[in-house]
Amino acid sequence: MTGKKYDWLLYSILAASFALSCALVFATRPKDGGLTFEAVRGGTVIERRRAAELTDGVALDLSSGAMTNIVASDPTGIRMVLANCPGGDCLRARPMKNAGDMIVCIPHKLIMRIVSSSVGAIDVMSY
Ligand SMILES: [Zn+2]
Repeated sequence: MTGKKYDWLLYSILAASFALSCALVFATRPKDGGLTFEAVRGGTVIERRRAAELTDGVALDLSSGAMTNIVASDPTGIRMVLANCPGGDCLRARPMKNAGDMIVCIPHKLIMRIVSSSVGAIDVMSY
């Protein structure tokens, strides 16, 4: 009993909402697909890679001279696992998982953060 003449309307609405949801998915992007891990020491980027590459058990040695900083990834996120800085605040920092998360090792002038891959360079920071 449903009029065939309205089918085109139904299909266009379906097509339009499908296109819209595709656009939304593309605009917001999957969280772990578009994240970049960056480590900056003294204003210089010393490490930059896709956060997805830092899977469980992968450790990154960001040490420089006598300054030891090793980060690793586990299911809770990317965290500092070894550091010889005084205080060791970075070792207690919350693991990084999402864009904007950051761990700073102030004594070693080391900043690690997760950025959205669409966002390019790190902001200049000073101490
Ligand atoms: Zn530290």
